[in-house]
Amino acid sequence: MAVLVTGGAGYIGSHTVAALLERGEEIVVLDNLQQGHKEALLGGKLYVGDLRDGETLDKLFSENNIDAVIHFAANSLVGESMKEPGKYYHNNVYGTLCLLEKMNQYGVNKIVFSSTAATYGEPENVPIDEYDRTSPTSAYGETKLAMEKMMKWFDTAHGVKYISLRYFNAAGAHASGKIGEAHDPETHLIPIVLEAALGKRPHISVFGDDYATEDGTCIRDYIHVSDLADAHVLALDSLRKGSDSAIYNLGSSTGFSVKQVIDIAHEVTGREIPVAFEQRRPGDPAVLIASSQRARQELGWDPQRSNLKEIIASAWNWHSNHPNGYSK
Ligand code: UDP
Repeated sequence: MAVLVTGGAGYIGSHTVAALLERGEEIVVLDNLQQGHKEALLGGKLYVGDLRDGETLDKLFSENNIDAVIHFAANSLVGESMKEPGKYYHNNVYGTLCLLEKMNQYGVNKIVFSSTAATYGEPENVPIDEYDRTSPTSAYGETKLAMEKMMKWFDTAHGVKYISLRYFNAAGAHASGKIGEAHDPETHLIPIVLEAALGKRPHISVFGDDYATEDGTCIRDYIHVSDLADAHVLALDSLRKGSDSAIYNLGSSTGFSVKQVIDIAHEVTGREIPVAFEQRRPGDPAVLIASSQRARQELGWDPQRSNLKEIIASAWNWHSNHPNGYSK
């Protein structure tokens, strides 16, 4: 039996592929390599193609004995989604529809889905649990919520079981030092802070210091990418054991402000990190912290690497050894 990992050459996808390989799973990856990197794949059989390309999906479903899918392939930038919502609906929502229809056609009825805290929007409660209101403040979050809902109806009608994992802030890099975060353009806080530490950027722009938080900067819940990867493996096991569809938050249940992240990065790297304060970024809630009780209780998830200092140290190991990401 093989697991299809869509978007397996991306940041979280490639760390999940690594975790699956470590326990001997057979892996098929579908990635259009728009954001993903061939070099990020530590193994598995790669099909370069798009979710919306029926021929590629027919080929990979007929050539491999796939029993489950882990679905990462999507556009994932909040800012971009506000400017180009059509791109997000097309790739994320229509792409997922194409995938679910092919899964149904080929009798594959298990899917682990890469979802996001952006499905909640401005939270009503802190920490956020899975029963809280979902009211996305970005087109990106809205498309991920639409994808989750589509899965629900494919479950009702066709018995396709899904586990949706709503991540908070993924960060860090694989312990081997071989794979890490390499987005182009990079928009995420921790890699940008480390690029500033490396002198690749003149400074880190802090988006807003007038939020209603202790130091005025936004608070986020950072979780190590390999802890996220482990949750996908546990979710896959759960579906294979016949569990029902479910939604889980994945976070460390602890919040750090942007200023705290910069201070810890300074401590870890020993480098100066120049800071410039700028306007708020549209769509940013002040505080996002997960309650991950449900994932801990039901999946047995036990994140081991998500102390912020450790996360930043692992990211620094990757960035300082790969200042140009995957390119030579
Ligand atoms: N942020 C920042 N400067 C940057 C990038 C991010 O101040 O160059 C802030 C951003 O406003 C948010 C936090 O850092 O409050 C985390 O942002 P990121 O894009 O990493 O993740 P998000 O929470 O948007 O998923």
